Amino acid sequence: MQNYDDLLKANLEWVETKLSLDKDYFKNLSKGQNPPFLYIGCSDSRMPIDTFTQSEPGSFFIHRNIANQVFPNDMNFLATLEYAVEQLGVQHIIVSGHYECGGIRTAHEKCRHSAMISNWLMPIKKIEVEHKEELKLLKNEDDRLDRLTELNVLEQLKHIFELPIIRNKIESGEYPKIHGWILDIRHGNIKEIDIPMEEWKSKGIIPKEYEK
Ligand SMILES: [Zn+2]
Repeated sequence: MQNYDDLLKANLEWVETKLSLDKDYFKNLSKGQNPPFLYIGCSDSRMPIDTFTQSEPGSFFIHRNIANQVFPNDMNFLATLEYAVEQLGVQHIIVSGHYECGGIRTAHEKCRHSAMISNWLMPIKKIEVEHKEELKLLKNEDDRLDRLTELNVLEQLKHIFELPIIRNKIESGEYPKIHGWILDIRHGNIKEIDIPMEEWKSKGIIPKEYEK
């Protein structure tokens, strides 16, 4: 495990490496950002999305919280989303969950936690109740947790599509594409989640103008 002093030492080494490859690296980096992606992910320390996608600084505008929740009344999230969409003009919004998510497990296990954690995870418990029958058919606990992780991402995608800022963008014809991911932390791979476009369009969740 890294200790605190290692962090600062590693930083100096990284700066040296970057400058040895490109002496203007930081000069260029400091000129401004134009990230193509807004990434909404879990706070889990094992999910540095830049590392998993071999991306350089400047690729992802990032919002993270426990179990990658999208709440329409979360000012922090809404400000991040609005800035990403309106000011930065991101081309893609990615909501990413991951297997072995402590937030999902805690919601599922229904253990007693502080009021704050319980409140935060309540929507996941709701998703589990709503999909009780589907989850019951799975053969073991791990499969149920994995499916709940995927259902959680789908639920957050629904919230994104339903936000007025996103609906207005879609109706205007110029909008970011919206994606759901699961980071399979056991193998390192990113799995794309299928969004049921036609079903969600018929239910009015996705505006009819939206094209994949
Ligand atoms: Zn997590």
